[in-house]
Amino acid sequence: MRKIRVLIAKPGLDGHDRGALIIAQALRDHGMEVIYTGLRQTPVQIAQAAVQEDVDVIGLSSLSGAHRSLFPKVVEELVKRNASDIPVVGGGVIPTEDIPFLKEKGIDQIFTSGSSTDVLANYIKQLVDPDSTVVKKPAKIAHIGIAVQSIDQAMPFYSHTLGLELEGVETVDSEDVKVAFLKIGETRFELLEPLSVNSAIQKFIDKKGEGIHHIALEVDNIKARLEQYKADGVKLINEQAKPGAHNSEIAFIHPKAAGGVLFELSQPVKGSE
Ligand code: ZN
Repeated sequence: MRKIRVLIAKPGLDGHDRGALIIAQALRDHGMEVIYTGLRQTPVQIAQAAVQEDVDVIGLSSLSGAHRSLFPKVVEELVKRNASDIPVVGGGVIPTEDIPFLKEKGIDQIFTSGSSTDVLANYIKQLVDPDSTVVKKPAKIAHIGIAVQSIDQAMPFYSHTLGLELEGVETVDSEDVKVAFLKIGETRFELLEPLSVNSAIQKFIDKKGEGIHHIALEVDNIKARLEQYKADGVKLINEQAKPGAHNSEIAFIHPKAAGGVLFELSQPVKGSE
């Protein structure tokens, strides 16, 4: 199989290429062929080099703040050369609020300074070979988990004040909790009541009080996703999926990976909804 060919380029005037060189080396370590154009390239030069070198992907790096004009110009120059099929990804010092603008201008993805090079490499692999994509975006919020000391005491608010319908109550032995599901639109509230002092939910309530405990995302292919997250260095609480409530396979991402939010991955078991 042909190696993935990546052009790494630094448009604009900033004179530092340490970051670009680190990225180039990281992609080589992932088995890619990397062509680095060097500093201070114009969008025309970058598009020309990409076509000449027949690359699969262009990676643009910018620290100068000129990404808003220079990244879209590279895309324009590719279009002029009938090479708009070459995807462009960008990285460097780029404020989050600029990302929607850049995507609108045809940049495939932006990796801000906190992103790991492994994540970038895996993204490029999937971009070049979409069949290798195992991690699609989560389908929806499966439920919002709320820690309560007593489901019986919490229920009047949900069923009477909010008027939601109780779907069912079940025990999840692996978590030492009793859970109640209330449907709201396409998603649910999951009330979690601890069944012992050793339950993680009891520890949560002792520390923080009752309240929102986690957000569950509905995913497919949870196994492959966990493998992918491990490869990307995402901190996980569960490296293996385990049986969860509501006929699902679940695993938790560590809150340290998600700005303090506890996310559950939840895959409905086939045959259930
Ligand atoms: Zn849950």
